[in-house]
This record gives sequence, C-alpha cells and structure tokens, in this order.
Amino acid sequence: ANVERLPARTRVLAVANQKGGVGKTTTTINLGTALAACGARVLVIDLDPQANASTGLGLDREAGRTTVYDVLLGGVDLAEASLPSIVPNMDVLPSSVELSGAELELVNEPRRERRLREALSKHQGRWDFILIDCPPALGLLTVNALVAAHGVIVPLQAEFYALEGLSHLLRTIDRIRRALNSVLELQGIVLTMYDRRNNLCEMVANDVRLHLGDRVYDTMIPRNVRVSEAPSHGKPVLLYDLRCSGSQAYLGLAREVLQREGRPLPPIPALAS
Ligand code: ADP
Ligand code: MG
Repeated sequence: ANVERLPARTRVLAVANQKGGVGKTTTTINLGTALAACGARVLVIDLDPQANASTGLGLDREAGRTTVYDVLLGGVDLAEASLPSIVPNMDVLPSSVELSGAELELVNEPRRERRLREALSKHQGRWDFILIDCPPALGLLTVNALVAAHGVIVPLQAEFYALEGLSHLLRTIDRIRRALNSVLELQGIVLTMYDRRNNLCEMVANDVRLHLGDRVYDTMIPRNVRVSEAPSHGKPVLLYDLRCSGSQAYLGLAREVLQREGRPLPPIPALAS
C-alpha cells in the first residue's frame, strides 16, 4: 500500500564487513523483511558461499538450482535465477557452495569487478531495494557487491575489538568510490548483538559513536535468542516472533535506512501495536 512512497529507482545496498559472525546475514534477512513489510519490493542477493541468507529465507539446499554463481560466471539472467522467498514481497537470488570457487574463477575474467553490476543493470526498477549479503572477506565477491551498490551498511558487533578492521573496510569503500563506483556511500553502521546488561558493550557502543558520529544508526540490534533461533526454522525473526526485541529493532533500523535514503517515511504498522 505504501509502494508509491518508496524510492523511484532501485536502491542497491551491500551489507559488508570482512569479519565473520558480526551479523551481516542476520541484518540482510531481517532488514530486508522489515523493508518488505513497509511495502517495498525487495531482492536479497546471497553472495556468501555458506548460503545462510538463502536457507534463512526458507530456501532449502537444493542441488542443481541456478544460483548467483551462474549469474556471475555463466551469463544467466539475474531475474530468472531469483526465487520467491518465504517473505511476501521478497525474492532471493540464492547462493551455493559452488560460489566458493568464484573468487578464483573471476580473477581471469574480463570486467571481473563489474559482473554483478552488469547483471543488475538490466533490471532497474523491478525491485525497490536490493540487499546484498557479502561473504566475510574483501575479495572479488565483496568488490562486486560494492561496485554494484549505492550504499554500504556495516554491521559492527558491540565487542572489544569492534573497531579493529573497520578502517580497512572504510578505505576499501573509498578506493572503490574513486576507481569503480563514484556514487558509493556509507549508508550507515549498525551495532549488533548489543547487550544492555554488559558494561563492556555499552563502553564499546559509546566509543564507536565517539569515533564515527552520525554514521552510526541510533538503532542498536539487541542480542536476542529469538534472532538466533529463527534461521533454524527457515524464517526471518520478523516472521518467527514479531514482538521480540530483535524484530522491533530491525523495524526501527528499516525506518532509519528509509530516512537516510531521503524519502518520506511509510508508517510501520508493527510499531503501532
Ligand atoms: P555474519 O553473516 O556476519 O557471519 P550472522 O548474521 O550469521 O553473521 O550472525 C552470526 C551468529 O550470530 C549467527 O548464529 C546468528 O544467529 C547470531 N546472531 C546474529 N545477530 C544476533 C542477535 N541480535 N542476537 C542473537 N544472536 C544473533
Ligand atoms: Mg553471513
């Protein structure tokens, strides 16, 4: 119902951090679901060979399916390889273990950094948001995501070493902006697995805000057992338990992301209840 207030053109957001286990996949799935709940048409691209975004959105590991690998290296059309997910309004371009070879296979291909961007260019306007779940490395797969994207969302786990590695990621974003994708911007940094009862978490969060200021979203994603349970049911936490603190936080994050896109806010029905 709110589609008319969503972006006029497709916005592509890469969810990236070269550290594993910081909440990239969880954020991709649940931010995507929250945006879809606002009426946006969403595509999730699973760019991690571990395929956790694919399974977390209800796709089982089916052999022989066309995947993002075939789009990047086999010339398969992106829309044809995308499947409806368990979430209304949301499609997913699945991944598979094959993708683990793609880093090496891409090296000798022409336009190796632009494969995903080219695959997306034929589908302007088909979706309102495309979220890309990146693997835990800054190799060619993540570079493909950053070259295809308008913005980057960086999940940062609220733990002692949170800032370690971040400057490397920010430099990579800068380099790609200068060399390959002039529109690329940092959409924002989201603190994940935040534990209010843990003093260290609070200190880290304050420290991150001190260093990074308004690049950090106000919304913090709390550590919440419902969030970690949901993937084993093949569901985003918003479909698994809408009322839990994790779901409500992801709805808040979606609101901020829409705000930063500079567009009017659609109402979020779940927050009113
Ligand atoms: P990444 O994609 O960066 O490797 P994941 O999103 O897979 O990270 O998260 C790593 C692990 O932490 C997963 O088991 C996930 O279920 C769990 N997790 C992520 N966010 C939360 C949260 N807010 N509360 C509890 N567990 C979480
Ligand atoms: Mg992941």
